[in-house]
Amino acid sequence: MPDVNACQICGAPAPPITGQCDGVAGYRLLRDPWSSTPSFLDGNLHFSCLSESDRNGLFFDEFTRMLRAGHEEIESLDGSPPPLTRMGLGMTEIFSGTECCVFQSSVADRWMVVKRNGPWFRLRLEDITEIARGVTPRSSSDVVPYRLPVDLGSGVTGLSLTSLLSVLGVADRYEPDVVEYEAIDYYSPKLLLEYTARAPLRLPREAVVFLTEYAQDYSPVSYDDEA
Ligand SMILES: [Zn+2]
Repeated sequence: MPDVNACQICGAPAPPITGQCDGVAGYRLLRDPWSSTPSFLDGNLHFSCLSESDRNGLFFDEFTRMLRAGHEEIESLDGSPPPLTRMGLGMTEIFSGTECCVFQSSVADRWMVVKRNGPWFRLRLEDITEIARGVTPRSSSDVVPYRLPVDLGSGVTGLSLTSLLSVLGVADRYEPDVVEYEAIDYYSPKLLLEYTARAPLRLPREAVVFLTEYAQDYSPVSYDDEA
């Protein structure tokens, strides 16, 4: 079984940082373009690995299809019946450009920008509002739990993000300089590091132009901006 905490493309440690590394849960039933045997993608992806991969077009097609779909039947891994039921997000595509597409939820104030070379960005109402004001939004400061591949000791919470990524051997997969990183806690029995990492959401220019215009006429579905 592949390690969900490792990058599913390069196999190296992959702590999630919005806009630089994110994960796809196995229950989404997305075909894994990087696996040598038929399997569903389950785990993290460095966006640098994703955007450089020659298979990112396959990923884009699968990922955006899942975003649009509601419940849909898909073939099992070996093609034999019965088919599996994929629970898509039921989003609507509201923009399709040369670099990216933008999707809108029908039930909440949520959007997703997906670049054609793979990376994706989740947007909340406050992000859309900031974009409309000409501000680059930053990701939320939610606490991220990440299981380290090895015990780095209690001193791990004193490391800067650059140092942490260097120790893990993946500094070149990220842009730590633009991230506001804070280690929260480390639970060594489970190698569990908790941190917050706020990073600028650097969307393609065409998405910013579209969303700036779009935000002018948008009426929120709900003001309860729950997580
Ligand atoms: Zn990688």
